[in-house]
Amino acid sequence: MLIDDGTFTGSELDYSTLRLDLDDGRALHYADVRRLGTVALMDADRFEEYSDKLGIEPLDGAFTAAHLSAVLRATSQPVKKVLMEQRKIAGIGNIYANEALWRARIDPSRPGAAIGLEESTLLRDSIVAVLGEAIEGRGTSFRDYRDARGKRGTFVDKLQAYGRGGLPCKRCGSKLVLTHAIDGRATTMCVKCQH
Ligand SMILES: [Zn+2]
Repeated sequence: MLIDDGTFTGSELDYSTLRLDLDDGRALHYADVRRLGTVALMDADRFEEYSDKLGIEPLDGAFTAAHLSAVLRATSQPVKKVLMEQRKIAGIGNIYANEALWRARIDPSRPGAAIGLEESTLLRDSIVAVLGEAIEGRGTSFRDYRDARGKRGTFVDKLQAYGRGGLPCKRCGSKLVLTHAIDGRATTMCVKCQH
């Protein structure tokens, strides 16, 4: 979403597909170059029904290691896929799932049920840290993402795994592997230090 207060000069609004005029004269634009997003108009009842189906927010205090451990234990799906399942945990996208798993040294393909409490604790802390740093950096401008002011997010400079396939692991120096075999999305991992 972009807030247009009249200061944009370049191509920021080229991909705007929805414009909401605000009372104060500014406009809120939905600009999605890759067209992966959805915008839905809902009344209060419909929104409640919708949000009830979403999983826990990772930055909610209730997202503890025990909670994550319980979510993982209940499934044999790859841990990375579980992290991105919005009905289980809301709001972890592909980039942040890659980063959190690299930090926690966990192989993204491992079944959720195989992740114990100790690793769940590491993973939970990694998720919270990665999201916190990403928010501080105003997001990750890997290709085209812009924040609400039209600026690039700076978290891209801190990526350790995502987008670094074939490059040396910043922890052990091994070549990072890029695969789409786990969940159909790009997964970059270190086979030497992620187990
Ligand atoms: Zn490594």
